[in-house]
Parts: sequence; structure tokens; C-alpha cells
Amino acid sequence: MTFDYDLFVIGGGSGGVRAARVAAGDHGAKVGLAEEFRMGGTCVIRGCVPKKLMVFASEYGGMAEDAQAYGWDLEVKGFDWTRFHAGLEKELDRLEGAYRNTLRNAGVQTFDQRATVVDPHTVALADGTRITAKHILIAVGGRPFVPEFEGSEHVITSNEIFHMKALPKKALIVGGGYIASEFACILNGMGVDTHQYYRGNQILRGFDDECRNHIATHMQAHGVHIHTGRDIVRLEKDGEGLLATATDGSTDRFDIVMYATGRVPNTEGLGLADAGVKMGLKGEVVVDDYSQTSVPSIFAVGDVTDRIALTPIAIREGHAFADTVFGGQKRTADWELVPSAVFTQPEFGTVGLSEEEAAAKGAIEVYTTAFRPMQTLFAGRQDRVFMKLVVSAQTRVVLGCHIVAPHAGEMIQLAGVAVKMGATKEDFDRTVAVHPSMSEELVTLRKPTRKT
Ligand code: FAD
Repeated sequence: MTFDYDLFVIGGGSGGVRAARVAAGDHGAKVGLAEEFRMGGTCVIRGCVPKKLMVFASEYGGMAEDAQAYGWDLEVKGFDWTRFHAGLEKELDRLEGAYRNTLRNAGVQTFDQRATVVDPHTVALADGTRITAKHILIAVGGRPFVPEFEGSEHVITSNEIFHMKALPKKALIVGGGYIASEFACILNGMGVDTHQYYRGNQILRGFDDECRNHIATHMQAHGVHIHTGRDIVRLEKDGEGLLATATDGSTDRFDIVMYATGRVPNTEGLGLADAGVKMGLKGEVVVDDYSQTSVPSIFAVGDVTDRIALTPIAIREGHAFADTVFGGQKRTADWELVPSAVFTQPEFGTVGLSEEEAAAKGAIEVYTTAFRPMQTLFAGRQDRVFMKLVVSAQTRVVLGCHIVAPHAGEMIQLAGVAVKMGATKEDFDRTVAVHPSMSEELVTLRKPTRKT
């Protein structure tokens, strides 16, 4: 049987673009790709990239204050959202163009429309065109989940926050995950009176407890009003904004309410179940380690598979799929010891097991340090850096490394190499410190803070 394409990819995000580019450009496959929104996907258009630019924007206020302590004669008149936003749009246009060029140069044919699956070898485009392919790759990512409640139609999500017409005076972020916490810091840094409601007892559930507490304390000290144990029951819109009634009976008024309460796979109406693809309870596509679904010609990578929802993971899954199916190199992505960062203020870099996870598996030694870093101490700030190594008492291997500090995301990328290589505490110790730096503290942790 002949097909129109060797591979048809649904979704032009991190995973889909990498798979298409490698299959066509490196392995010579005939590839088509459909994208219903903008090329680049969540990460580039409404995720990591615009978020990080907003993080940068939000940090300059504090940096300008500190600069005065360093002798700079500066006058900060406030933050201009409109000016920043114009630059942001321009940068996203540039990036989208770069993604399109990459695909074009690799010989991938793109379709700017929605696609659905008809059967194991056929997709339908929104304009009615039917396309056949030997292999279909589902790389449709996820979308924000907002629970239904009275007034939930008034909330925005991370999709809309990048398109605000003006900066609100007072904002509420609902959720305790990394996206919620990052945006609470971003808005706060931009001068917005920012509140964060989270129904649990501490934000950033799933991360190391001590780090979560450290981050929350600093966020509050910097002005974010974190209200744990609180959720919204009702939201009413009137001329003055949004009136939120919370589970504890309290009411407060906000200009915007953003929900960041999780994401769900984008599989609704995609036709996968009818084509025989096994789906999970959350609507995720069930795959094996090679990203193959229960239908042998259909594969899925990235957030839609609900494995680890991070861009570098989607990229590696897409690459491994293309190498396996079109490059004759059977290989999988690696989901172990994935370093990651939370771009809160203070920033958090983490790799490996939290203290709680490690303690549940065996005897550990925990090394910690907390100190005021030179740069902000000089400017009179009380901010403290926190670092932790979780070490196996038996093997001495560093099981987890957690850093709450300016640029922790940059630090953890490198510490992640050592941890991934199975470095022991003694390997850290025999590495000479880089002085003066913050990260030198990681190689000078002499005595365990506790043994459990
Ligand atoms: P996506 O990038 O979501 O791409 C899927 C694409 O498919 C989308 O463009 C969508 O329009 C398209 N699509 C969907 N259905 C169809 C259809 N039927 N037909 C055609 N096209 C379709 N990760 C990090 O690693 N670091 C971060 O700092 C980070 N920050 C984030 C911040 C936010 C606010 C969000 C929301 C996410 C963030 N992520 C971050 C997660 C990261 O964006 C995702 O893990 C990554 O984009 C997943 O890639 P993907 O290819 O699976 O899907």
C-alpha cells in the first residue's frame, strides 16, 4: 500500500517539530505536519519562552533598586506593560518564523489547520482533506484545566495572561504548582498587588519540603500574598472587577483571576479512541517506552502522553521516536534524574529525589546551607540562598540536589550532570570551589545537617 507520507505529525510544538525535523531532515522520510494555532507550540508561544521573558521583565525593578546601593544614579518610574508586550510579540513572531524555517529546510510540508485521526493510517484536516500516512505521530500537547464553579467563565489561564491589554492593579492566581507560583512572582515583580490561593497547605507540592517552605517564605517577604488552604467557590463580575468568595467565607476583589490548576491532554475530539488507540483516565495517550500506542502505526510524544510535562522531555521523546522508526536506531528517551527549574523569585533548581522521597527509600544524610549571598547582601537585602544535598548513607551517591538561589536554573543544569553520572558526596567534596560564587557552597558542605 502506498501512502501520501511516511509520517504525518499532528501538533507543531516541542515534540512534534523535533520528530518531524529529524525524520525528514536526518532520515529522509516524507513528512507532513499540521498545527492548528501557531508553530512552536506551548513552549514557544504560550509557555516557557514568553514566561521567562516575563520573569526577566519582572526582575528589573528589584535589580534597579539594588543598583542604587552599588552607586548607580537611577530613577525607576515603573513598569510599562504595553512597551514590554510589543517587544514580546515581536520576539514570538521571530521565533515562530525560525520554527517554520527549520521545518521548511528539513523538507517538512506544513498545514496550518487542525487535524484529526480517521483510522490507523488516515488523518483529516479541518478543510476536509484526507491524508494517508504510514505512521502518525500525536504531539498535540495539553491545555489548562479550569474546574467548573459559579463564575468560572470569568477566569483567565496561562494562555491569556500573555495577551493582557493592560497590567492589572490587583490579581489573584489560583493554584500551587510551578506555573501558578511563577506567575504570582512575575506579576508581583511588575508591581501588581498579587494574591495566590492554594487549597493545599504549601505551594509547590511534590518538591522538597524545605525548599518549598523557603521559596514561599521569600515570596511572601517580597510581597506575594500567599493564602494556603483557600480556594474559590464563587466569582462575580461587576463594574469594579471580579469579586471572589473563598472556601473560608472571605471575599476579595481583583482585576484579573488566573487559574493555573493543572493541565489536561489535548485529545478531545481527536478521534483516537475510535481509531483503536488506548487512552488513559485523564485523556492521555497510553504509550510504551518507544512512544508507540496500542495501534502500531500511531505514536505519541510529549505532554499528551502525561509522562514528564517538560519541553526537553517532549523534544527527546520526539527525537528518539524519529531515530527508532526512520533512522534504524532503536532508542528511548531517558526519564531518570531529569533536572528542572521553577522560575519563581527566588528561583529553584532541582534534580533527583527530595529529602522525603529519599528517606522513604533508605538511610540518608542531608547536607544543607542557608546564607545571604554577597550580591544582594551588599544591597541590604535579607534574601537567603538555600542549598541541599541528599546523600545515600550506604553508597554515598548524591540522590538529590536542590538549590534555591538567583540563577538556580543555570546551576542545576551543571550539578545535574554530576548527579546523572552518579557522583558521590566525596566527588562533590574533591571538586575545588569557584570563589567567590554561590555554587561553591555545594562543594564545601562538610557536616551533615541530619541523618535519617
Ligand atoms: P505543545 O508544545 O503543547 O504543542 C502541541 C501543539 O499541538 C500546539 O501548538 C497545539 O496548538 C497543537 N495542536 C493541538 N491539537 C491539534 C490538532 N488537533 N491539530 C493540529 N494541531 C494541534 N516546560 C519546560 O521545560 N520549562 C518551562 O519553563 C516551562 N514553562 C511552562 C510555562 C507554561 C505557562 C506552560 C503552559 C508550560 C510550560 N512548560 C515548560 C511545559 C512545556 O511548554 C511543555 O511540556 C511542552 O510544550 C510540551 O510539548 P508538546 O510538543 O508535547 O506540546
